[in-house]
Amino acid sequence: MRIDVITIFPELFDPFCDTSLIGQARSEGRIALEVHDLRDWTRDRHRTVDDTPFGGGPGMVMKPEPLVEAIEALAGVKGERSRTRAVLMSPQGARFDQRGAARLADFDHLVLVCGRYEGVDQRAIELAIDEELSVGDYVLAGGEVASLVVIEATTRLVPGVLGNPESAQRESFEQDLLEGPQYTRPAVYRGLEVPAVLRSGHHEEIARWRAEQARVRTRERRPDLIGATGGDETS
Ligand code: SAH
Repeated sequence: MRIDVITIFPELFDPFCDTSLIGQARSEGRIALEVHDLRDWTRDRHRTVDDTPFGGGPGMVMKPEPLVEAIEALAGVKGERSRTRAVLMSPQGARFDQRGAARLADFDHLVLVCGRYEGVDQRAIELAIDEELSVGDYVLAGGEVASLVVIEATTRLVPGVLGNPESAQRESFEQDLLEGPQYTRPAVYRGLEVPAVLRSGHHEEIARWRAEQARVRTRERRPDLIGATGGDETS
């Protein structure tokens, strides 16, 4: 999978994307990630990416020309893309979730566009963006952190990125469930004991206990998830 990011703050990405799972996936060549400075597509001496809003009002709006040219240079022309998706990070987009991550992981190429200021000229969205994604109902100062959320959640679903592929199948939001509680050594800590079943070595009982805990936890914390996608066959 290849990911291109368009931003006016490319320097924000390096430490994060060179570390841990993403850094390793990059150095092993499982994902190609490139961060581009939107200003490289400006043509004026001041490398201007924003302008005042038509109709007045506070703040600045991102100009359409550098954005559309950058997206077309990296993603091709809208309507002629097949395995490439141009995504604008936006609080007005569809809510990004685990299913969205799985859907994006099926593309060969993502171009993630980070807005700033008051947002993006509507024509740039219409001309060049395939979809808008939000990471939650709050307003960030820019799309950079949001795009990192998308990058991290999506790339760990790319085959070979997680050391153990089973961990992606067993975790929260799979089968419309949260994952249950987890324990490691010591067996007793400050008087709190690890449930005996987990130390029993009885694999079937452990699996049954974990499934039950996942159901209990989901019912308590996120009843909205149960049956949300028809994934929980056991409820
Ligand atoms: N004026 C806009 C908000 C602009 S915030 C409005 O009211 O809708 C500036 C930029 O930050 C946006 O263009 C977007 O790229 C990014 N951003 C802010 N909140 C976000 C969110 N919840 N999810 C994804 N991107 C977000």
